[in-house]
Amino acid sequence: HLLVQGVVKSFGTVPVLRGVSLAVGKGTTTAIVGPSGSGKTTLLRVIAGFEVPDAGSVLLNGQMVAGAAFVPAHRRNIGYVPQDGALFPHLSVAGNIAFGLSRKALKAGGLSLADRLLELFELVSLEPELAARRPDELSGGQQQRVALARALAREPDLLLLDEPFSALDAGLRTATRKAVAKTLARAGVTTVLVTHDQSEALSFADQVGVIRDGVVAQLGSPFVVYSRPVDLQTAEFLGDAV
Ligand code: ATP
Repeated sequence: HLLVQGVVKSFGTVPVLRGVSLAVGKGTTTAIVGPSGSGKTTLLRVIAGFEVPDAGSVLLNGQMVAGAAFVPAHRRNIGYVPQDGALFPHLSVAGNIAFGLSRKALKAGGLSLADRLLELFELVSLEPELAARRPDELSGGQQQRVALARALAREPDLLLLDEPFSALDAGLRTATRKAVAKTLARAGVTTVLVTHDQSEALSFADQVGVIRDGVVAQLGSPFVVYSRPVDLQTAEFLGDAV
């Protein structure tokens, strides 16, 4: 499971995270919500190891992955999907997704590379005809799905998603969300998801964390956060969902 303990992060003199603590059970999904600029992306980047926290630590399955000690990338099996997907522009769609696949894992699963790729395409509702295209020949929604498939390909212990479905239209968003939720549950992947979409937070996640003024103002089940919001802003934010 994931344990974020007292994470502090400032940019210059501007404090963004003032002591964020969070526990996410193994195989469960936590949605992080909060106003624009409240530090949601910064928190994901600290957990992913792209930002070094000024104080505090992050433990994944008992091992420190961020904090005072430097942890090399190969010792953290964390999948991070940034808002823009950050696909490799020179690789095809198939090349991007295959990047995360290890021969060892394929062998263990008894699958060929082509079969595993097909599985991943299906999982994120991506048309196999797109396999040979470059990222700049895709729509924003298609790019998001490729990025998601690439992250899932490596079967991460922790999956960090920054607005993963924001560029998808409503129908595709629901379908992709359901397919991904099913896979994550089946594979037991611990997931932290940043979203602006209230209904996504309430339906997709086992737990919702509300970030406000650099701390987690509330952490609880969607039902509790929805029915007993910690403050008026949270109530208004979640109230928009109905
Ligand atoms: P949004 O919902 O709009 O995506 P967010 O909650 O994800 O916002 P962050 O992107 O984490 O917020 O940014 C939090 C604050 O930190 C913002 O005020 C932002 O301008 C600032 N910030 C983020 N990254 C940097 C950086 N590398 N250097 C300086 N300031 C930064």
